[in-house]
Amino acid sequence: MDLQSTIRSIPDFPKPGILFRDITTLLQNPAALHGAIAGMTYHCQILEADVIVGIESRGFIFGPAIAQQLGVGFVPIRKPGKLPAATYTVDYALEYGTDTLEVHQDAFEAGAKAVIVDDLIATGGTAAAAAQLVTKAGATLAGFSVLIELVDLGGRSQLPNVPVKTLVSY
Ligand code: AMP
Repeated sequence: MDLQSTIRSIPDFPKPGILFRDITTLLQNPAALHGAIAGMTYHCQILEADVIVGIESRGFIFGPAIAQQLGVGFVPIRKPGKLPAATYTVDYALEYGTDTLEVHQDAFEAGAKAVIVDDLIATGGTAAAAAQLVTKAGATLAGFSVLIELVDLGGRSQLPNVPVKTLVSY
Protein backbone atom coordinates (compact mmCIF):
# COMPACT_ATOMS: atom_id res chain seq x y z
CA MET A 1 0.00 0.00 0.00
CA ASP A 2 1.42 3.37 -1.08
CA LEU A 3 0.45 5.50 1.92
CA GLN A 4 2.22 8.62 0.69
CA SER A 5 -0.10 8.94 -2.33
CA THR A 6 -3.10 9.15 0.03
CA ILE A 7 -1.68 12.10 2.00
CA ARG A 8 -2.69 15.54 0.68
CA SER A 9 -0.22 18.45 0.70
CA ILE A 10 -1.63 21.94 1.30
CA PRO A 11 0.71 24.89 0.68
CA ASP A 12 0.76 27.86 3.08
CA PHE A 13 -1.27 26.23 5.88
CA PRO A 14 -1.60 27.18 8.70
CA LYS A 15 0.69 30.06 7.69
CA PRO A 16 2.72 31.15 4.66
CA GLY A 17 5.72 28.94 3.88
CA ILE A 18 4.41 25.76 5.58
CA LEU A 19 3.60 22.78 3.33
CA PHE A 20 0.99 21.02 5.45
CA ARG A 21 0.83 17.20 5.13
CA ASP A 22 -2.89 16.53 5.57
CA ILE A 23 -3.68 13.01 6.77
CA THR A 24 -7.46 13.41 6.62
CA THR A 25 -7.38 11.99 3.07
CA LEU A 26 -5.44 8.94 4.34
CA LEU A 27 -7.98 8.45 7.15
CA GLN A 28 -10.87 8.56 4.64
CA ASN A 29 -9.33 5.73 2.60
CA PRO A 30 -10.12 2.37 4.27
CA ALA A 31 -7.09 0.54 2.84
CA ALA A 32 -4.73 3.36 3.78
CA LEU A 33 -6.18 3.65 7.29
CA HIS A 34 -5.73 -0.08 7.72
CA GLY A 35 -2.19 0.04 6.31
CA ALA A 36 -1.15 2.94 8.54
CA ILE A 37 -2.44 1.31 11.71
CA ALA A 38 -1.04 -2.11 10.74
CA GLY A 39 2.39 -0.63 9.96
CA MET A 40 2.57 1.43 13.13
CA THR A 41 1.32 -1.53 15.18
CA TYR A 42 4.09 -3.69 13.69
CA HIS A 43 6.68 -1.09 14.70
CA CYS A 44 5.32 -0.89 18.24
CA GLN A 45 5.38 -4.69 18.45
CA ILE A 46 9.04 -4.78 17.35
CA LEU A 47 9.79 -2.25 20.10
CA GLU A 48 8.07 -4.58 22.59
CA ALA A 49 5.70 -1.90 23.84
CA ASP A 50 3.99 -2.50 27.19
CA VAL A 51 2.07 0.75 26.77
CA ILE A 52 1.31 3.15 23.90
CA VAL A 53 1.63 6.90 24.49
CA GLY A 54 -0.23 9.29 22.16
CA ILE A 55 0.48 13.01 21.78
CA GLU A 56 -2.56 15.31 21.55
CA SER A 57 -4.20 15.56 19.18
CA ARG A 58 -3.30 13.46 16.13
CA GLY A 59 -1.51 10.88 18.24
CA PHE A 60 -4.99 10.16 19.62
CA ILE A 61 -6.17 8.99 16.18
CA PHE A 62 -3.59 6.20 15.92
CA GLY A 63 -2.53 5.44 19.50
CA PRO A 64 -5.65 3.73 20.87
CA ALA A 65 -6.11 1.65 17.70
CA ILE A 66 -2.52 0.39 18.00
CA ALA A 67 -2.86 -0.28 21.74
CA GLN A 68 -6.06 -2.23 21.15
CA GLN A 69 -4.35 -4.37 18.46
CA LEU A 70 -1.46 -5.16 20.82
CA GLY A 71 -3.62 -5.74 23.90
CA VAL A 72 -1.85 -3.01 25.90
CA GLY A 73 -3.04 0.26 27.47
CA PHE A 74 -2.98 3.81 26.11
CA VAL A 75 -1.67 6.94 27.87
CA PRO A 76 -2.56 10.43 26.56
CA ILE A 77 -0.06 13.30 26.61
CA ARG A 78 -2.15 16.44 26.61
CA LYS A 79 -2.01 20.21 26.23
CA PRO A 80 -2.02 22.15 29.52
CA GLY A 81 -5.04 22.19 31.81
CA LYS A 82 -6.80 19.15 30.30
CA LEU A 83 -5.71 16.31 32.60
CA PRO A 84 -7.64 16.29 35.90
CA ALA A 85 -5.26 14.50 38.31
CA ALA A 86 -1.69 15.43 39.34
CA THR A 87 0.55 15.94 36.29
CA TYR A 88 4.14 16.31 35.21
CA THR A 89 4.69 19.26 32.88
CA VAL A 90 7.32 20.01 30.22
CA ASP A 91 7.75 23.32 28.41
CA TYR A 92 9.42 23.23 25.00
CA ALA A 93 10.51 25.72 22.37
CA LEU A 94 8.52 26.39 19.21
CA GLU A 95 9.64 28.47 16.23
CA TYR A 96 8.06 31.46 18.02
CA GLY A 97 7.55 31.13 21.76
CA THR A 98 7.00 28.00 23.83
CA ASP A 99 4.40 25.29 24.33
CA THR A 100 3.59 22.89 27.15
CA LEU A 101 2.62 19.22 27.42
CA GLU A 102 1.42 17.23 30.42
CA VAL A 103 1.00 13.62 31.52
CA HIS A 104 -0.62 12.15 34.61
CA GLN A 105 1.94 11.34 37.31
CA ASP A 106 0.43 7.87 37.85
CA ALA A 107 0.05 6.99 34.14
CA PHE A 108 2.68 4.23 34.04
CA GLU A 109 3.69 1.10 35.91
CA ALA A 110 7.30 1.71 37.02
CA GLY A 111 9.68 0.70 34.21
CA ALA A 112 6.93 -0.06 31.65
CA LYS A 113 8.26 0.01 28.09
CA ALA A 114 6.51 2.94 26.42
CA VAL A 115 6.34 3.71 22.70
CA ILE A 116 5.37 7.28 21.74
CA VAL A 117 3.01 7.57 18.77
CA ASP A 118 2.25 10.65 16.65
CA ASP A 119 1.26 11.56 13.10
CA LEU A 120 4.34 13.54 12.09
CA ILE A 121 7.85 14.54 13.17
CA ALA A 122 8.90 17.96 11.89
CA THR A 123 11.50 19.69 14.11
CA GLY A 124 11.17 16.94 16.72
CA GLY A 125 10.40 19.38 19.54
CA THR A 126 7.01 17.88 20.37
CA ALA A 127 8.27 14.29 20.38
CA ALA A 128 11.31 15.27 22.48
CA ALA A 129 9.04 16.90 25.07
CA ALA A 130 6.84 13.79 25.14
CA ALA A 131 9.96 11.67 25.71
CA GLN A 132 10.91 13.81 28.72
CA LEU A 133 7.44 13.32 30.20
CA VAL A 134 7.52 9.54 29.74
CA THR A 135 10.84 9.34 31.56
CA LYS A 136 9.73 11.77 34.31
CA ALA A 137 6.66 9.61 34.94
CA GLY A 138 8.83 6.53 35.53
CA ALA A 139 8.41 4.59 32.27
CA THR A 140 11.23 3.35 30.03
CA LEU A 141 11.18 4.92 26.56
CA ALA A 142 11.38 2.04 24.05
CA GLY A 143 11.08 4.22 20.94
CA PHE A 144 8.82 6.19 18.63
CA SER A 145 6.32 5.06 16.01
CA VAL A 146 5.40 7.99 13.78
CA LEU A 147 3.48 7.93 10.50
CA ILE A 148 5.33 10.74 8.67
CA GLU A 149 8.85 12.17 8.94
CA LEU A 150 9.92 15.48 7.37
CA VAL A 151 13.52 14.35 6.96
CA ASP A 152 15.06 17.69 5.97
CA LEU A 153 14.05 19.26 9.30
CA GLY A 154 16.32 16.82 11.16
CA GLY A 155 13.85 16.11 13.98
CA ARG A 156 15.50 12.78 14.79
CA SER A 157 18.59 14.57 16.07
CA GLN A 158 16.47 16.20 18.82
CA LEU A 159 15.30 12.83 20.16
CA PRO A 160 16.84 10.51 22.75
CA ASN A 161 18.91 7.59 21.42
CA VAL A 162 16.07 5.08 20.90
CA PRO A 163 14.62 3.68 17.63
CA VAL A 164 12.44 6.04 15.58
CA LYS A 165 10.18 4.08 13.21
CA THR A 166 8.31 5.86 10.41
CA LEU A 167 6.19 4.78 7.41
CA VAL A 168 6.31 7.82 5.09
CA SER A 169 9.23 10.21 4.49
CA TYR A 170 9.30 13.59 2.72
P1 AMP B 1 7.49 19.31 15.61
O1 AMP B 1 7.40 19.54 17.08
O2 AMP B 1 8.12 20.44 14.88
O3 AMP B 1 8.13 17.97 15.28
O4 AMP B 1 6.00 19.28 15.06
C1 AMP B 1 5.24 18.16 15.25
C2 AMP B 1 3.77 18.41 15.28
O5 AMP B 1 3.35 19.52 14.47
C3 AMP B 1 3.11 17.18 14.72
O6 AMP B 1 2.35 16.60 15.76
C4 AMP B 1 2.28 17.63 13.56
O7 AMP B 1 0.93 17.35 13.85
C5 AMP B 1 2.48 19.13 13.42
N1 AMP B 1 3.15 19.51 12.14
C6 AMP B 1 4.34 20.15 12.03
N2 AMP B 1 4.66 20.38 10.75
C7 AMP B 1 3.66 19.88 10.02
C8 AMP B 1 3.40 19.78 8.60
N3 AMP B 1 4.25 20.28 7.66
N4 AMP B 1 2.27 19.16 8.19
C9 AMP B 1 1.41 18.65 9.11
N5 AMP B 1 1.58 18.71 10.43
C10 AMP B 1 2.69 19.31 10.91
